[in-house]
Amino acid sequence: MALPGRGISRWKLDDHLQRQFVSLGGGLVTNSRIAPASGVIWAAGRPRQPSPWLGLKCHARKLPLTHDLEMFTSPGGYIGLAKIEDGMVNLCGLFRARLARGVKGSALLLTMLRESSLHALADRLEAADLDESSFCGVAGFQTGLQTGPAFSIGDAASMIPPFTGNGMSMAFESAECALQPALDYAAGRKSWLEAAETATASQASRFKRRLTAATILHHLLMNRAALRITRTLARRNMVPVQTLLHLVR
Ligand SMILES: Cc1cc2nc3c(=O)[nH]c(=O)nc-3n(C[C@H](O)[C@H](O)[C@H](O)COP(=O)(O)OP(=O)(O)OC[C@H]3O[C@@H](n4cnc5c(N)ncnc54)[C@H](O)[C@@H]3O)c2cc1C
Repeated sequence: MALPGRGISRWKLDDHLQRQFVSLGGGLVTNSRIAPASGVIWAAGRPRQPSPWLGLKCHARKLPLTHDLEMFTSPGGYIGLAKIEDGMVNLCGLFRARLARGVKGSALLLTMLRESSLHALADRLEAADLDESSFCGVAGFQTGLQTGPAFSIGDAASMIPPFTGNGMSMAFESAECALQPALDYAAGRKSWLEAAETATASQASRFKRRLTAATILHHLLMNRAALRITRTLARRNMVPVQTLLHLVR
C-alpha cells in the first residue's frame, strides 16, 4: 500500500527523539562512549572497515526541485535530493571513493558530481545556497550484514544501500525487533545471548528480502550497461517503480 511520506532532516528528527525520550523519563547521557557488554544493546552505527565508498550529505536552500524526490545516478555514484523542513533540500550521495586532494565540504560534493558526469546537477547546486555547516562525509563502511556485538540494531547490525532511503526506517524497525527479547532478558526469561539470538533472527526475517533486492539494484544502478537499459525503459514508462519500491521496503 502506498503511503504519503514526510521529509525531515536528521538533526530535527534526533532533536524530537531525544526530547520525547527525556520527557518519558529516559536518562540520556551525551558526549560519552561505552564499550560493548552483556546488557548493552549495540546501536553505535556502522562499524569502520575498508571500503570503496564515500558518502556525502549536505543541506541546500534556494534549490527548486521538479519533484519531492529527485534521484540521479551514474557509474561513478548516485545522489538523492529531497525536501525537508523550512524550504531546505537534503542532498545525500554515495560515490566510488577517489582521491580529491585539498577539496573539502560542498566543493568535494561538486567535484564528485562532475567526476560522475552529473554536470547539470552540479550547475544547479552551484547556483543554490549550500549550507557548509550541514556538510557531512562518511567513509570506511560496507553495506549488508555487519559483524559486531551479539545484540546489535540499526546500522551496527545491517546497512542497506542508501539509494533506498530506508536506513532510518530499518534502525527503528530493528529496535522494534529487539524490544520483546530485551524485555525477556530484563524479566529473567532469557539469557543475554538467547535474547540477542532472538532479536537477530527477527531482524533477519524482516530485512532479508529488502537487503538482497537493494544489493542487486545498487550494483545495477552503477553499471553502465544496466543504466542504458533502464534509461530506454524509463523513456517508454516501463520501469516498474512501485514493484521495485515494494522490494526494498
Ligand atoms: C551516504 C548515505 C546516505 C544515506 N541516506 C539516507 C536517507 O536518505 N534516508 C535514510 O533513512 N537513511 C539514509 N542513510 C542511512 C542512515 O543514515 C542510517 O541507516 C542511520 O543513521 C542508522 O541509524 P543508527 O542509529 O543505527 O546509526 P547512527 O545514526 O550512525 O547512530 C549511531 C550513534 O552512536 C554513536 N556511537 C558510536 N560509537 C559509540 C560508542 N562506543 N558509545 C556511545 N555512542 C556511540 C554515534 O556517535 C552515533 O551518534 C544514509 C547513509 C549514507 C551512508
